[in-house]
Amino acid sequence: MNHIAIIGAGYSGALQAINLLRFGTARITLIERAERPARGAAYSTSYPDHLLNVRAAKMSAFADTQDHFANWLAARGQGDGATFAERRLYGTYLEELLAAAGDAAGGRLRIIKGEAVSVTRDGSGETIGLADGESLQADAVILSVGNLPPERPRVISPELPDDLYVADPWAGDITSGLSDSDQMILIGTGLTAIDAALMLDAAGFKGRILALSRRGLVPRAHEAGPHSVPDLAQEPIDTLSHLLASVRRSAAAIGWPSAVDQLRPHTQALWSAAPVDRRRRFLRHLRPWWDVHRHRIAPEIAARIAAMEAEGRLSFQAGKLVSTSLRGEGAELVWRPRGSGQTEVLLVRRIVNCTGPQGDLARAGEPLLRQLLQDGRVRADPCRIGIDVDAKCRVLDSNGSPSASLYAIGPMTRGALWEIVAVPDLRLQTHQLAQTLSLPA
Ligand SMILES: Cc1cc2nc3c(=O)[nH]c(=O)nc-3n(C[C@H](O)[C@H](O)[C@H](O)COP(=O)(O)OP(=O)(O)OC[C@H]3O[C@@H](n4cnc5c(N)ncnc54)[C@H](O)[C@@H]3O)c2cc1C
Repeated sequence: MNHIAIIGAGYSGALQAINLLRFGTARITLIERAERPARGAAYSTSYPDHLLNVRAAKMSAFADTQDHFANWLAARGQGDGATFAERRLYGTYLEELLAAAGDAAGGRLRIIKGEAVSVTRDGSGETIGLADGESLQADAVILSVGNLPPERPRVISPELPDDLYVADPWAGDITSGLSDSDQMILIGTGLTAIDAALMLDAAGFKGRILALSRRGLVPRAHEAGPHSVPDLAQEPIDTLSHLLASVRRSAAAIGWPSAVDQLRPHTQALWSAAPVDRRRRFLRHLRPWWDVHRHRIAPEIAARIAAMEAEGRLSFQAGKLVSTSLRGEGAELVWRPRGSGQTEVLLVRRIVNCTGPQGDLARAGEPLLRQLLQDGRVRADPCRIGIDVDAKCRVLDSNGSPSASLYAIGPMTRGALWEIVAVPDLRLQTHQLAQTLSLPA
């Protein structure tokens, strides 16, 4: 292939470009609508309190040089392999890598600032349409568009203005215009809610924050100091209830964090081998527990959150949001604690949607994905958590046929792999796809 276009330059798109430049000879065009390529949603934060939730030793950008990031960090006097580094620093690492790869590639990398709104195929290849009316042609296109924004909960009244209801905590400033007598509600109790609580704390907000989700489950903390996880004695058992029983037994012996980490090398294979109904049951019943044990937070972040709780400034609750309405300068919120027949009423200054990304393409407002879906070039995976791809990252069309020139990478391929969210898996995916696309025709 002579020319490959990548849509989206977050972690996955940037690493895809870097690996294609390393392994192949094609020209690469990276299209990114945000100001700063390479950072994406996770590493654009300007808050020093937002730390990586994985130790530096596991955050190398390269599958074949495992200590690359730890060495980069140490060379700058910012820590070592055991450090939970600042996410903004990790973004600088990625920016530097992309710039260096571009410099070394002798003009083969082009970065375009703009939004891709269509991809269409004709005899001569793929044509990418941009929001400003421009277009470009490529032999192949890789969709690397990251997660979809969170869905608006149905109970959020349309009368609530943007200042009262923040649809996407990454898209605006959730801390502006607050006073210490205000109350805030975070819908969700996962990693996004933790980030939001830290932002409010860093801005000096002294009011009360309620974080609410159906089960009220909160991400667990990593153990202080590095720990090794024994290999599984045998391959994990391939039925959901047997698997759960096996993990429970391991947890009793070595603790939940290690029991979940033990599964890590097997997760993609387990998911890929599972029939669709088993995947759906996992998502319905086990996902909330999986998420809080698998995606843990740095011990120092857990200590900050615990201090906010102890001071009565933050509380995590299990319950259901019943309704919201405009009341004076704030929003009245009715919610029902889990297991209770009674509702409670709160007057809040701001509601922040921390429910995390949605995956259902059909409900996505993204023009590019809408067009691809309407044209039958992509389809939702059977669990409706992303874009359906085969094992080679080739996008499946509405008939289930793999495309020869349209690929997808990143968290939106979780329908095929499930464990494709964090750096160690994404770097491998981009490495393998670059090698495949760089093979001589
Ligand atoms: C807050 C947060 C913290 C995380 N922390 C860690 C961590 O500590 N350790 C770890 O291993 N993993 C972490 N992750 C997970 C993982 O690293 C990220 O999800 C990963 O960065 C995903 O990268 P991505 O490029 O696939 O998606 P994104 O980072 O979302 O990037 C997608 C990019 O595509 C662009 N885009 C989308 N559509 C278009 C379009 N039509 N035209 C042009 N541009 C477009 C977007 O602007 C965006 O820049 C974290 C994730 C989040 C959200």
